[in-house]
Amino acid sequence: MNIFVTGGAGYIGSICVEELLNAGHQVTVFDNLTEGHRAAIDPRAAFVQGDLALPESVKAALAASKADAVMHFAANALVGESMTDPSKYFRNNVNGGINLLQAMVECSVRKIVFSSTCATFGTPDRVPIDETLPQKPINPYGESKLMFEQMLRWYDEIHGIRHVALRYFNAAGASERFGEDHRIETHLIPNILKVALGQKSGVSIFGTDYPTPDGTCIRDYIHILDLAQAHMLALTRNESAKYNLGTGGGTSVREVIAACKKVTGRDIHVVEEPRRPGDPARLIASSEKIHTELGWTPRFQAIESIIESAWKWHLAHPKGYETGS
Ligand code: UDP
Repeated sequence: MNIFVTGGAGYIGSICVEELLNAGHQVTVFDNLTEGHRAAIDPRAAFVQGDLALPESVKAALAASKADAVMHFAANALVGESMTDPSKYFRNNVNGGINLLQAMVECSVRKIVFSSTCATFGTPDRVPIDETLPQKPINPYGESKLMFEQMLRWYDEIHGIRHVALRYFNAAGASERFGEDHRIETHLIPNILKVALGQKSGVSIFGTDYPTPDGTCIRDYIHILDLAQAHMLALTRNESAKYNLGTGGGTSVREVIAACKKVTGRDIHVVEEPRRPGDPARLIASSEKIHTELGWTPRFQAIESIIESAWKWHLAHPKGYETGS
């Protein structure tokens, strides 16, 4: 298939592009490179530098790609930033999304796989979180992704565009070639590994008074290659669906730090800090539905194996992509 990938220069997009190409698909990456990196785009893919904010630019690139399907990763994705700059999230994630959907209508592209998030659920009444739980976001990031999910329903009903929305839990790890490199790094695992590399003096724990066994937040970390695999399976589905995507296991911030110490063999200095606004205590996925309907099963369950792949990539690219390494 020909796949048009928005955000294909970003962390998750770049690795899904690599897997699509490995599976024999043809890929056009559409990215404005504000968050992504040129060096993260697999050289086997075609690349168009463009912006979802410009309807004509999206439409022209989509038409030229002759796409059979779209994978839509391009978005702003930081909970904390969304709490201080909500306009950025609604403008880029919602308006940009409308331009993409309109271009799909005009170019008759009838399939989209969408990067959604567990942040659409807010603070869940129970875990694991399955697809029947109500979506009540507690930050503008989650709200912007939920708004796009809701729009998808109408583009299906009115224009016949089939969607698969994947609500990622915490993507982590790396492939052999591509890894996680944000210009401003807020995520837990890369921040810990920067301490292990000697690039940061310590890692902050945001909140030690959560109602969890060790007082720190629990998240469901999923290996980026398992996540990419779910995208491959999503392409095979002809009906619209929404799936939660995690391993079903929960790891606390302190447990992640301990696992990083073990994997790297290096000491990690820890600084305990107050809670970060917008963080729910515990997010764990039920991925029963995608397992049953698409046969998806994560290959990497242990947090150590996820961290090992990330550590290997960070050791090989200590300065990320900007050095051209
Ligand atoms: N976190 C932390 N220190 C950091 C970064 C994150 O304690 O330097 C915590 C954060 O509060 C959350 C968890 O680690 O509970 C995962 O955060 P991350 O930003 O990696 O992903 P998110 O869950 O926000 O998507």
